[in-house]
Amino acid sequence: MTDQNQVKEFHWLMNMIQTIDVGLVVIDSTYAIQVWNGFMANHSGRAPHDVIGGNLFDLFDSIPETWFRNKADSVFLLKNRAFTTWEQRPYLFRFKNYRPITGTAEFMYQNITLIPLLSSDGTVKHIGIIIYDVTDMAVGKSQLQEVNGQLESLSRTDRLTQLNNRGYWEECLESEHQRAMRTGAPCTLIMFDIDHFKPVNDTYGHQAGDEVIRATARMLLESKRAIDIAGRYGGEEFVIILIDTDIKGAAVFAERLRRKIAASTVQYENVEITWTISLGLAECSEHIRSHCDWIECSDQALYQAKHGGRNQSCRYVPGDAPKR
Ligand code: GH3
Ligand code: MG
Ligand code: MG
Repeated sequence: MTDQNQVKEFHWLMNMIQTIDVGLVVIDSTYAIQVWNGFMANHSGRAPHDVIGGNLFDLFDSIPETWFRNKADSVFLLKNRAFTTWEQRPYLFRFKNYRPITGTAEFMYQNITLIPLLSSDGTVKHIGIIIYDVTDMAVGKSQLQEVNGQLESLSRTDRLTQLNNRGYWEECLESEHQRAMRTGAPCTLIMFDIDHFKPVNDTYGHQAGDEVIRATARMLLESKRAIDIAGRYGGEEFVIILIDTDIKGAAVFAERLRRKIAASTVQYENVEITWTISLGLAECSEHIRSHCDWIECSDQALYQAKHGGRNQSCRYVPGDAPKR
């Protein structure tokens, strides 16, 4: 190759480095900047003559010095490449994000590669930092995660009442059963059912019935503690797991909720609808071997409450007929 051709090739190479849509920086072992390409100048707003010769950490205080020195030192010493992704650290250089599509991101997400640059004597006195703008990918992934989160929460939620749906609630009951067995902490399950709900639907219509179900769910949510786990078990059947609560405490809760619902009304097309509920309570204990057993026990107590005349709460007593 002639000298002239070599010069030409070098010139093209420099041109490409300047215009490529990737950040290229070279630093020496004192962390002084030696090369600063067009991408870096455009995004940082600092021209090469402003930064070349300057110390990387003095010029860019967004770079965590100890962390970066650790990474770079291994490149200098071991002559290996090093990487960091936006998921480990969103960026090395804090640049504003100007992309039109991913304009929601405040800054540019970056993947970084550090490469050892061998001198003619085989030592590494410089390293190259390559900065990839991965904002599109990062924003895409965060949005996907957000949508997945929303989908997950939708798949757990009952549409009419916004309570936990039966499937998800049963999963919770299973873990609470295991927890109560392990820790021995008290925990009580209440199942309740709206009394004579068929006539509500038949008299006022299905929409009025839905309104009653919604109002019941609302009062349940208002009455419970944040850690208690409420769900809609079926049409007009509800459930709640009272955490760290024994049967006595649960009975107080049950009676308060029962009275509150009995005293409330739903206004539907100029008629005031009143309704009541019956409740069955069962505290977790060793003889309740599974969460299905637990449901069975409180359902049995609920049956007793219905049988006893409705608008009342009954407790399940182990080895005994459920008592009021
Ligand atoms: P009981 O006191 O014995 O519980 O009497 P009940 O009339 O409530 O008896 P049952 O449990 O058999 O009736 C429940 C009714 O609830 C039957 C069904 O039409 C109605 N239902 C179930 N799901 C919904 C719903 O999502 N919306 C409305 N409006 N009604 C529902
Ligand atoms: Mg009913
Ligand atoms: Mg029912």
